[in-house]
Amino acid sequence: MDLRKISLAELPGVGPKKLEALQSLGINNVYDLLFYFPFRYEDMQAKSLDDAADQEKILLKGVVASEPVVSRFGYKKTRLNVRILVDNESVMVTFFNQPWLKDKFETGTDVAVYGKWNENRRSLMGMKVIDIHGNSVDSVYSVNKNIHQKTLINLIKVAYEKYHDQIDTVVPAYIRTKYKLLDDVQIVSGIHFPKNQEQGDEARRSAKFREFFLFQCGLQSIKRNDEKQNVGIVEKYDHDFIGKFIGDLPFQLTDAQNRVVREILADMESTHHMNRLLQGDVGSGKTIVSVIAMLAAVTAGYQAAIMAPTEILAQQHFDKIGKLLAPLHIRTALLTGSLTKKEHDFIAGDIENGKTNIIVGTHALIQDSVDFKDLGFIVIDEQHRFGVNQRKALREKGQNPDVLAMTATPIPRTLAITTYGDMDVSRIDQLPAGRKKVETYWIRSQKIEQMYHFVTKELNDGAQVYVVTPLISESETMDLKNAELIYDKFTELFGKKYHIGILHGQMPNDQKEAVMKDFSDKKIDVLVSTTVIEVGVDVPNASVMVIYDANRFGLSQLHQLRGRVGRGEKQSYCILIADPKNESATERMKILTSTNDGFVLAEEDLKMRGAGDLLGNRQSGLPEFKVGNPVNDINILEVAQEEASQLFENEALMNSPETKALKSFINDEYEQLNNFD
Ligand code: ADP
Ligand code: MG
Repeated sequence: MDLRKISLAELPGVGPKKLEALQSLGINNVYDLLFYFPFRYEDMQAKSLDDAADQEKILLKGVVASEPVVSRFGYKKTRLNVRILVDNESVMVTFFNQPWLKDKFETGTDVAVYGKWNENRRSLMGMKVIDIHGNSVDSVYSVNKNIHQKTLINLIKVAYEKYHDQIDTVVPAYIRTKYKLLDDVQIVSGIHFPKNQEQGDEARRSAKFREFFLFQCGLQSIKRNDEKQNVGIVEKYDHDFIGKFIGDLPFQLTDAQNRVVREILADMESTHHMNRLLQGDVGSGKTIVSVIAMLAAVTAGYQAAIMAPTEILAQQHFDKIGKLLAPLHIRTALLTGSLTKKEHDFIAGDIENGKTNIIVGTHALIQDSVDFKDLGFIVIDEQHRFGVNQRKALREKGQNPDVLAMTATPIPRTLAITTYGDMDVSRIDQLPAGRKKVETYWIRSQKIEQMYHFVTKELNDGAQVYVVTPLISESETMDLKNAELIYDKFTELFGKKYHIGILHGQMPNDQKEAVMKDFSDKKIDVLVSTTVIEVGVDVPNASVMVIYDANRFGLSQLHQLRGRVGRGEKQSYCILIADPKNESATERMKILTSTNDGFVLAEEDLKMRGAGDLLGNRQSGLPEFKVGNPVNDINILEVAQEEASQLFENEALMNSPETKALKSFINDEYEQLNNFD
């Protein structure tokens, strides 16, 4: 029985008002209600009176020693008094305004009462009578002003009574046996009405597995659907041509690059629809991998496009790709938002009639006015910078093109599993040979002179320097002012001998490009910039990165910034200027000086800031789990992922009755996810 199809209105006492209150908690049907779990328990272990402190909430167990007496006072107020014998001491228990509890106290029978202990009077202000054979743990739910704890608990009880024998267990039996997991009825009762803390914990462990497992099955089913329905394009690329292109590169690909190139090309040539995430730390050389893949698509007769998050980055890709491919008669174009209408129409025309083979662009690529002739392959650079919808929009510009999404933000293992379980992942886990570790130092602002000395020395040595100024406020004008002050300072100190440039978000695009080009051509020695250079920018000769107010940045962002240097032969340095005001900022500075490993940093960042922050607000695809926590419960998550993927590989099992409930659940639950990225 699908409890998600049963309206809450079926429950006694639920009218429009309660329906609305429940909805405001995200509870829309009986299933939601039963799986609306408490966020903590109040443990009501029975206490001996010797251990009870004054005003402490305790559970007393005893024998009813007197007839309960109900008396009235004030306006419609009642008091119920009853004596119970606890360890040979007679204790007076008083309940206010719950006269009906009278029936629960029959002289001579066992009883358990939860309430507030008054040490002086040796009496208890009763709060509730506990079913002596039932649970002594009280579930606490997150509620809002529209609905009380009590109302909710009662509704859950009613729903459980009425529907518990209709709950279908979704996790297949063989998996539950393997990991000693409870079935869904046990989970629901164990979590809502545990007899003790241990039982609650046990149910919760099973619930976490169940939650992760269902999510992973959802991802698997999307993935399989994708493969079945959308048979991918078979790109019969020119092997010799690609081999020669790789051989002619000015450098040798690293083993890791070679490996991921093979993975990608194999996918392209197969009927498999490629949806692949390419992960690699900053500077690991993702761009060239994507260029090889795009070139392969072109030799197979398709157009390829790469979408970057900023104009600076798109421009940089365009320059590099153009240089590499022009001798091969591959036609490339750059499409950004800053083109005039005439330029835009001209370029868009050539994209539409197929004259252009490889198109580099920003989100301008997904405008309605852009049509491709035969888009077979797309690359999304810095993919976490794009929203799910933007990525989808680019895909829809072609007939189910293969997708390569690249990210320089190393996504921790946990998030890779949770959010990208539906994608294949290729990882470049190696930097090009000869790269030296960026040496990182942290100084406080009172020691800023040391930085000036250091920069002088490095400039005299031919280095180029980035100086990054932070986002001081939400206001761009303020940030600009800050950047300008620092620019003035550097001009005053170094301006006679060196060229100082400035770059900020408010400059017109052509001016930004001109500045970047000058920096790239070494016409600028020191580039003072707001964080517009944060992603992707590649100027190998730059070897010093100075970051002001570094404590204002997150770890991953600092790592990205630092990744702008250390791209050439020269020993590179990163100097963090920071006066951290709290422990976590201090911790960030220390971690950064101690490791260059982006994955380690990303894991740390995740622990410190949480997933939402790390991926940015636009990452709407990030799932929210109710019971499980992908960071703390990583072990359960991994096992769930493993089991889900094995199950989907196993056709016999997938067709057996054992997975019937699971399949029906997934089909409904994840239907909307088929529109997912
Ligand atoms: P990211 O992975 O951060 O996007 P890029 O693709 O920008 O890194 O590459 C960083 C730099 O390393 C570029 O200058 C690129 O030309 C260079 N590079 C890429 N692969 C190699 C390699 N195998 N050997 C040497 N240099 C390489
Ligand atoms: Mg890059």
